[in-house]
Amino acid sequence: MTDIQRLDDRTVERIAAGEVVERPASVVKELVENAIDADANRVEVVVEAGGTDGIRVTDDGVGMDREAVETAVEKHTTSKIRDIADLEGGVGTLGFRGEALHAIGAVSRLTVRTRPRGGDVGTELVVEGGEVTSVGPAGCPEGTTIAVEDLFYNVPARRKYLKQESTEFAHVNTVVASYALANPDVAVSLTHGDRETFSTTGQGDLRETVMSVYGREVAESMISVDAGSAADASGDEMQAGNFPDGPLDGVHGLVSHPETNRAGREYLSTYVNGRYVRAGTVRDAVVDAYGTQIAPDRYPFAVLFLDVPAGDVDVNVHPRKMEVRFADDEGVREQVRTAVEDALLREGLLRSTAPRG
Ligand code: ADP
Ligand code: MG
Repeated sequence: MTDIQRLDDRTVERIAAGEVVERPASVVKELVENAIDADANRVEVVVEAGGTDGIRVTDDGVGMDREAVETAVEKHTTSKIRDIADLEGGVGTLGFRGEALHAIGAVSRLTVRTRPRGGDVGTELVVEGGEVTSVGPAGCPEGTTIAVEDLFYNVPARRKYLKQESTEFAHVNTVVASYALANPDVAVSLTHGDRETFSTTGQGDLRETVMSVYGREVAESMISVDAGSAADASGDEMQAGNFPDGPLDGVHGLVSHPETNRAGREYLSTYVNGRYVRAGTVRDAVVDAYGTQIAPDRYPFAVLFLDVPAGDVDVNVHPRKMEVRFADDEGVREQVRTAVEDALLREGLLRSTAPRG
């Protein structure tokens, strides 16, 4: 006999939250995206114990007044789109689902301290396990600080599933680095406990940002990729001639000299229309371009921006928005591989037919 029952709201919310908040790094991702969407010039991320003991993200963005922050932590509330038509046209912001703050608040203790730019009062609001437990005026600078503590305290299964601190921190580091690299005009810093992992200057230069994040050796080994129409106008005289037609308008950014490589794929940062994505197709295409110049178990560094006409890419595929879907996957692969190959050829780094030594 079946006994079908409607789940209570609390249970539904915690299950839904699990779609958005998988681990500390997913919280960090959502908070950093919100800071960038809020027009911040500076974003500071501080985590304790890999993010399992606390996460704090501070920005100097537009901030919120009391009414806005009370609305922001509710379910499905966003200032970024109004209806489905806004999505069809391609979203200009990183967020648009209006889920993150609500979901994070459902599975932690979330404290928002915020003051609108030019406003003279700040607000502090606390959410515990999905319940607003306090809200009131507070002294704080312009911008927003969001602190997340006791993550998953009310979802023991999820809490138990967290990996050791170093693993969780590695994920946090990858996320913050990816956003720092995509936003050279924003000063981004990451601190773990009392140790600063990196900080960027926000001066707007990609190579300098790579240096802040990955160090001088990597930055100096980087080669520019500039194929098709480049949104970044800095290298247009280096326009590659044989960029094939396909779904992408352009591919630009930096890739490392083949000798500067690592064992993991986490240094392959790829972006579609400025949005950080984990796109297997794109990573594979980059690795393919190096041919036999890199050992099969090693990967280059890459910071690659793909420009796709809005409408040819679906950003709405996954709740965590990390994945995108291309209408023409093969076309994308071909274009990315060619763009990276051309860059390596130009530097004389692809001589796969010539014997080594
Ligand atoms: P989304 O980003 O999809 O809109 P969120 O739940 O992440 O949904 O945020 C809800 C709303 O709260 C945002 O649309 C924005 O208006 C506001 N907000 C969140 N974080 C910030 C921030 N750091 N600065 C200013 N406003 C913010
Ligand atoms: Mg958001």
